[in-house]
Amino acid sequence: MANHVTNCHHLKSNKKHQRIKSTFKMIIYIRGMKKIKYYLSGSFYGMLWMNAFIMLSQAGVCVAQSKDSLVIASIVKEATINSQLEKLSHELFDVIGPRLVGTPQMKKANDWAVAKYADWGIEAKNEKWGEWRGWERGMSHIDMVAPRVRTLEGTQLAWCPSTGQKAVVGELIIVADTPDSIAFEKWLPNVKGKLVLVSMNQPTGRPDYNWQEFATKESFDKMKADRIIQTEAWRRRLSKTGYTSKTLPLALEKAGAAGIVMCDWSAGFGVNKIFGAYTKKIPTVDIALEDYGLLYRLVEAGNNPKISVRTESKEQGVVPTFNTLAMIKGSEKPEEYVILSAHFDSWDGGSGATDNGTGTLTMMEAMRLLKKVYPNPKRTIIAGHWGSEEEGLNGSRAFVEDHPEIVKNIQVVFNQDNGTGRVVNIAGQGFLHAYDYLGRWLAAVPSNIRLQIETRFPGTPGGGGSDFASFIAAGAPAFSLSSTSWSYGNYTWHTNRDTYDKIVFDDVRSNVMLTAILAYMASEDPVKTSRDRSILPVDSRTGKPALWPQQRSPIRKGGLD
Ligand SMILES: [Zn+2]
Repeated sequence: MANHVTNCHHLKSNKKHQRIKSTFKMIIYIRGMKKIKYYLSGSFYGMLWMNAFIMLSQAGVCVAQSKDSLVIASIVKEATINSQLEKLSHELFDVIGPRLVGTPQMKKANDWAVAKYADWGIEAKNEKWGEWRGWERGMSHIDMVAPRVRTLEGTQLAWCPSTGQKAVVGELIIVADTPDSIAFEKWLPNVKGKLVLVSMNQPTGRPDYNWQEFATKESFDKMKADRIIQTEAWRRRLSKTGYTSKTLPLALEKAGAAGIVMCDWSAGFGVNKIFGAYTKKIPTVDIALEDYGLLYRLVEAGNNPKISVRTESKEQGVVPTFNTLAMIKGSEKPEEYVILSAHFDSWDGGSGATDNGTGTLTMMEAMRLLKKVYPNPKRTIIAGHWGSEEEGLNGSRAFVEDHPEIVKNIQVVFNQDNGTGRVVNIAGQGFLHAYDYLGRWLAAVPSNIRLQIETRFPGTPGGGGSDFASFIAAGAPAFSLSSTSWSYGNYTWHTNRDTYDKIVFDDVRSNVMLTAILAYMASEDPVKTSRDRSILPVDSRTGKPALWPQQRSPIRKGGLD
């Protein structure tokens, strides 16, 4: 570490004073750690006394600022001129790919991160917390084969049963609009040997912002009104089957359907959400809105379209699941912890680039910078790359449950998990004194980053949404570094378009600097953070103050029902 004193403007003038013969010496103790000598000239006694007073009053601040500003300047410099984000993104998103729990890609990513940390001289390990259904995605190939041939844009859902190398070929049928569940049961045998269309045919493939820009107001209003009626009618149609979105595919499978075809349109151009299949034997595929609409209209018009579906995948039994944990050991208070948190897993329709690849790389890159410019932190700094957040915060809940000794000594947790954007919001999550310590730490952040961020105190404790909630439930001060949207909800969150090209690297770099600086300030803070809770606002349902979220156990064995 650089000497505390070297960068301090006020102390640089000391040299001048040392040359003067008649001197007296003052020793100032700062933070009980360093003593700094001021040599003051007797011949300039009066003036220098005044200077001495100024120096005395400013010395503590000055040295603190000088050390902080040196570290912070080094963080900014390294993050800017030697950023590893593009390289890491390529390795993780393009080469390894999405990180669905229980897949070999998730394990590869765990191992990749440990190796990266080792390259940077940071201790890291994969810690097992549970088991999951082992499954590996293979190819998806979907073609319309009648009344003409067209290769369709679509993919199998996660955990889709394999068709093997032989395609399933069949006619299509739309889930019937029956008066009630009894009538639906009577209709069910009609699906035998057919692929069933289970999603509504959207009235438009254009997102609303496109209508807003180009449609007449009357036309836009009419489309929206029609869509509301149609959406409600489709909801009623499904509800009258007597099944839920989870049980309907199984009922169709049991009735002899050859496959399930859906379209989980995400209200943007070319974008669908890709979640998990519920079928046990027959394929479940999601098709792009354009192709789904084509099939739907052909069926409705009696053109008898046929499709061919081939979905390959490998079942791999029960596999262990891990959190990847990296650590820079504290030198003064090793039993107190600053935790940089981001879930490592993803859905697998895209590459998991912004959910939560960018959060993951923010924490990794921040760790790399900290190791380089702040290798002996006061408190221990841990990066937690959690598994299976997407199925219910499982990795972080397991960590909280398995490490009470760490959780009770947490200085702070910073979690980032809502896309590639610059951090623009930090809320106090119901911790009464969060404004105090977060405010002080944020004050050290360069203004171009800090001034983008709105804070809200004391806020209310997050009960879910991402891994900070697992820590809040255990009473540990945990905060979400909340990003600007970049159309996250529609375009990248759990979609087939969550890919490398959506990353806004300058924003992620800004988040890396912010995270590293906050981690540094939290680690250096002479004071342990308060866990005092604010009285929560009255819950309108109960008429009483809302309750603090309860700690919950993770699913330790998943996907095996
Ligand atoms: Zn996420």
